[in-house]
Amino acid sequence: MRPFRLYEPTTINETVATLSELGDDGKLYAGGTELLLAMKTGLLQYDGLVNVKTVPELEGVSYSNGTLTIGARATHSTVEHSADVLAHAPLIASVEHRVANVRVRNVGTVVGNLCFAEPHSDPGALLLLYEAEVDIASPSGTRSVSVEQLVVGPYETSLAGDELVTRVRVPLLPNGMRGAYLKFGYHHRPTLGVGAAVSVTDGKFLDVRLTLGSAPPKPTRMRDAEAVLRGAAVDDPAVAIEAGRIAAEGCDAIDDLHGSAEYKRHLVQVFVQRALAEAVERGVK
Ligand SMILES: Cc1cc2nc3c(=O)[nH]c(=O)nc-3n(C[C@H](O)[C@H](O)[C@H](O)COP(=O)(O)OP(=O)(O)OC[C@H]3O[C@@H](n4cnc5c(N)ncnc54)[C@H](O)[C@@H]3O)c2cc1C
Repeated sequence: MRPFRLYEPTTINETVATLSELGDDGKLYAGGTELLLAMKTGLLQYDGLVNVKTVPELEGVSYSNGTLTIGARATHSTVEHSADVLAHAPLIASVEHRVANVRVRNVGTVVGNLCFAEPHSDPGALLLLYEAEVDIASPSGTRSVSVEQLVVGPYETSLAGDELVTRVRVPLLPNGMRGAYLKFGYHHRPTLGVGAAVSVTDGKFLDVRLTLGSAPPKPTRMRDAEAVLRGAAVDDPAVAIEAGRIAAEGCDAIDDLHGSAEYKRHLVQVFVQRALAEAVERGVK
């Protein structure tokens, strides 16, 4: 790997000032599980890396007033084992438990995962279920965007070069809503992730959120499929089949090493139905 200088700021202000000074020659670095691999293979080259792990303000997971906060330094393992996550959003803990392997989970961060925007990932589709937002700092101030707006395409985010994601804010699912997340794949990374969150009244879907990851080029909320479910009978299998069909048609799947676009659309069709059934029968917060 080409030599680089490692910067170790201790505050958010110092971090974004360093990024701004380095311009295109610098990049933020958290667990390094994506970035260092890309640098080792020569796909990416930077003269300076700015370490987010030396900034105490970016540490930890916390809960307050119906919202979980995941700091930029929080690893997948931290989130998986957090008492706040286990108590208030056990679905997130269970999905984090199935990300990668224990070595990657111990160093890789949830925020680093979102910011690398590798399509074959879990946190994006999972956090879309919760309508999560990220807080962003830069030398000119702070702003917030939804996770949906953060990831704009494969390996592409809406972040400027001098912006740092400081935390993800995750509102709990509304009262009565329960969710499920199913993933499928046979490589290291997922081929498909489907999230479903539902509330049911009098045998009908009252509200529904459906999300897809890995098969589409970016984590995606399947709003057209949600629309056919709202108000429909939970025990009518035709409704879930129709939702799966709409999600499959709208998912923009492409041919790649995980399979053909046609194969992925078939998986989407099947897994949307399974995720809905799981959310209805065994869904958790
Ligand atoms: C073998 C293997 C298996 C995997 N399996 C899965 C899987 O099953 N599911 C899954 O979802 N993922 C999987 N992954 C991906 C893994 O989740 C990510 O590699 C990890 O979360 C990235 O986090 P990191 O802290 O290492 O990021 P880094 O490599 O440090 O950074 C990644 C990118 O994010 C940017 N960045 C980091 N922090 C910030 C910040 N605070 N603000 C702005 N930009 C930032 C960096 O500049 C860089 O561009 C796997 C990875 C490996 C190697």
